Amino acid sequence: MSKPIEGVRVKCSRCEQQAVARVRYAKLNLCEQHFAEYLENRVVAFAKRLPIKDVKKALLALSGGKDSLSLAYIISKRKKDLGFESLIGFHLDLGIGDYSRNSRLAVEKLCHEKELTCIVVDLKTLTGYNLPELLLKTKRPPCSLCGLIKRYVINAMSVELGVDATVLGHHLDDILVFALKNLLTVGTLGDVKLTPVARGIPGLLSTRLKLLYEVYEDDLKLYAGLSRVDHTAERCPYKHVDFISASIRDMLENLEKHSPGYKIALIRKLTKQVVEEPPQGLKQCKICGMPSSRDVCAFCNLTAKIMGKPMGPEIRSKLREQAIALHH
Ligand code: SF4
Ligand code: ZN
Ligand code: ZN
Repeated sequence: MSKPIEGVRVKCSRCEQQAVARVRYAKLNLCEQHFAEYLENRVVAFAKRLPIKDVKKALLALSGGKDSLSLAYIISKRKKDLGFESLIGFHLDLGIGDYSRNSRLAVEKLCHEKELTCIVVDLKTLTGYNLPELLLKTKRPPCSLCGLIKRYVINAMSVELGVDATVLGHHLDDILVFALKNLLTVGTLGDVKLTPVARGIPGLLSTRLKLLYEVYEDDLKLYAGLSRVDHTAERCPYKHVDFISASIRDMLENLEKHSPGYKIALIRKLTKQVVEEPPQGLKQCKICGMPSSRDVCAFCNLTAKIMGKPMGPEIRSKLREQAIALHH
């Protein structure tokens, strides 16, 4: 984790400039340029250690927040080093008032500046409802409903585009909190979400990559600020941090303060406990053809209940139109 250096004169460990960041786990003080380079190099070095030589064409899921937009910034700067030949940004506009408006604007602005091909789709155009409207029709908690929709739409978009992988902006702190919460509540680490590469099934389930796997949230904040990555500062009004997650975060923060580098060492140990296996027992939803552990996928099931008909096939065909439009 890195902290800004303010108000005191400290020299950069790599040049004569004033340092702006103290990278505690690496015992470095870095100026603006060297901090950005340091973080970008870490992402590239991590990606090079992953078994992803076959990934040439990728979809980058962009929420509009600092994490995914900083990643987009890093990837577009270091595309060649990462081995990507083609990258497509993807944003799902959930229709959550100012939060969604600002998120969408931030995504469009960054993609325009970085000349990144970008697909933006509206949940309302896809389903006839935005997220707040859908929430009125179900008792499901907002993030659970939103997560299910996003997972479905992002995977379907990746499948329709035929990309080799979907790149997600989850960082070290997110992943650790998820794994430890799972351990404390369910008794397992939540295997698939814990691996940096979750292999999919061609034409059905996209391979997912987490390139920020070993990147601290504080480093991303600093990077976004120093590199002027324009992201939405707006917080989703449905965001709720539960007590267990908040407690885990506090505990990890204290351990990191006491032993800089603790979180990276921990995630490396936890990953070793997880066997990365191809998804087991997956079928094709008999309505929409997307992956499912049952005959009908959770998305078709949910939309049948709250909208009167399963929306999977319609959404897939709308996303297919987007994919075809992009290729022409
Ligand atoms: Fe969706 Fe919850 Fe994130 Fe809001 S906080 S965008 S509802 S997952
Ligand atoms: Zn420097
Ligand atoms: Zn389905």
